[in-house]
Amino acid sequence: MSELAAITQTLTAIKVASDLVKGLRAVDGHLREAELKMKIADLAEALADARLGILDAQEEIEALQNRVKQLEAKPDLRLKLELRHNVYYMKDPPPDRTEGPYCPACYESSETLIPVTMLPPAMRSSGNFHCPICEAVY
Ligand SMILES: [Zn+2]
Repeated sequence: MSELAAITQTLTAIKVASDLVKGLRAVDGHLREAELKMKIADLAEALADARLGILDAQEEIEALQNRVKQLEAKPDLRLKLELRHNVYYMKDPPPDRTEGPYCPACYESSETLIPVTMLPPAMRSSGNFHCPICEAVY
């Protein structure tokens, strides 16, 4: 369930519980015990629904907070990339990467650095590099 659905469910359950309490307050003492027990059971059910909705929302908020932390911890590669001859090169590449060149289209669509290969001279009519993933030529 999405956090918004969980919150909507919770608000609905709280509204039902509030209405039940209002109904109980308005009772003039003539309510039979069986009716009273039924209304109390409805009230308990509405409160349980509200509690479940809050638990769902809490779970979703925790998942979102974790995702935000992950994204914040990810170094911003874009700051290290520069466009030269229509392909990306990395400034100061880490030991596990080469300087490039990398496919700009693949990086823009999935933030993944895909090395492009240099085309043989006979095939360079439309560009010098070929991306093996998106097939673009630069
Ligand atoms: Zn590509």
